[in-house]
Amino acid sequence: MHDFDTIIIGGGPSGLQTAHFLSANNLKVALFEKDPSIGMDVVCSGVISKEAFGRFDLPTSAIKGRLKEAELYSPSNNNIHYSHPEESVVVVDRHQFDNALAERAQKSGTEVFLDSKVVSISNHDNFVECEIRRGNTNRTYRAKTAVIATGVSFNLQESLGMGRPKKILKGIQVEIEVEDIEKLKMFWGNQYSRGFFGWVIPLEDSRAKIGVMTEKNPMEGLENILGHLGLENNLYAGKYKIQRRGISFGRIKNPVSSRILAVGEAAGLVKTTTGGGIYYGLISAEIASGVVNDALSDKSFHPDMLRVYEKLLKNEFSKELKFGEFFHSFYSDLNDNEINQLFDAAKKDDLLSYISQNGKFDWHKEAVINILKSPNLRKILIKGLIRQGTKFAFSS
Ligand SMILES: Cc1cc2nc3c(=O)[nH]c(=O)nc-3n(C[C@H](O)[C@H](O)[C@H](O)COP(=O)(O)OP(=O)(O)OC[C@H]3O[C@@H](n4cnc5c(N)ncnc54)[C@H](O)[C@@H]3O)c2cc1C
Repeated sequence: MHDFDTIIIGGGPSGLQTAHFLSANNLKVALFEKDPSIGMDVVCSGVISKEAFGRFDLPTSAIKGRLKEAELYSPSNNNIHYSHPEESVVVVDRHQFDNALAERAQKSGTEVFLDSKVVSISNHDNFVECEIRRGNTNRTYRAKTAVIATGVSFNLQESLGMGRPKKILKGIQVEIEVEDIEKLKMFWGNQYSRGFFGWVIPLEDSRAKIGVMTEKNPMEGLENILGHLGLENNLYAGKYKIQRRGISFGRIKNPVSSRILAVGEAAGLVKTTTGGGIYYGLISAEIASGVVNDALSDKSFHPDMLRVYEKLLKNEFSKELKFGEFFHSFYSDLNDNEINQLFDAAKKDDLLSYISQNGKFDWHKEAVINILKSPNLRKILIKGLIRQGTKFAFSS
């Protein structure tokens, strides 16, 4: 009746980690990845906190950079220097990172099927059925449970009524050879990004990742960052391979369907402040595998039984994600002049010292709430809040 205990759909960090946890528990697990190899077309800066490396056993061999200092640029090119007391963040090569996770999942017993796109999924009383396309042939597999880990792809979730995130943001990135960049650079303002920021991330081998996350045309922001570095002609001459990818913003309505859970970005579990999704994906993989494991041993797969997953996700992420959404809607309404004022206020109130002592890379709510209490920021905040209130009043 069943080919597997669990089918995992998608071979990114969230799917691979779920697969590893479940097969390490002696369950029969299959993972289907649509691409011919793991980590093939990944578009990601690979910035992960030391906290993530402390909580999970992650492949240190994939680390290609370590970040401790940053230069933060305002729209008027004002620059604030930030230094963290210790290295709290590393940069991984996602191709190597994902392949190391795949190797470990396979060692634990997961069967990995490449070039295998799940084109449809359906849940039944006693099983889940997935239709897989490999080349020109389609084949169906059955399992007791399934985990959707498809990243920023929501067709399967929508077909099951699980929904999709509030928005899909636009991400763009190039990786280039460059001398003399030692510190992380971050760029704020509308010429770089609407609502978020752009970045230059130095790697250890005289290379850097340059990218933008935004709600509008990301190419414009990329051009402006390369212009800041005096490298825009290389872009126009076609010397850089430009990679684009969407980024989920906001949790999906329902991460649970009968016998099926969604993890990682496929559930919209991405930081709403920075777009980072690797660590939240790994945490959700840990939670989901515990719930699937219990469901399989109790033989109870009704959505009500699986709702515990939704509750656990809420406890872990809800406040953080909602706060990020609120902060984003406030920030994306600011014009460049107001963002410049935020920078001035941050300097006057010495907020970066506060962040370096109290900030956490993956959890921003507490620090941002405290920062917003600072006297010079408060004036800009109140103006923004009044505008938010007016917008809300007119839209409701
Ligand atoms: C420009 C940019 C920079 C980023 N930088 C960072 C960063 O520095 N740090 C960070 O934490 N996050 C970053 N992110 C976000 C991060 O890349 C994702 O959140 C993360 O990869 C999510 O992991 P995942 O396993 O949930 O999904 P993914 O890594 O997207 O993996 C999903 C997998 O599922 C496969 N798949 C999809 N549909 C199907 C299907 N139907 N059948 C079979 N397989 C399927 C895909 O091919 C893919 O391999 C960035 C994103 C962008 C766009």
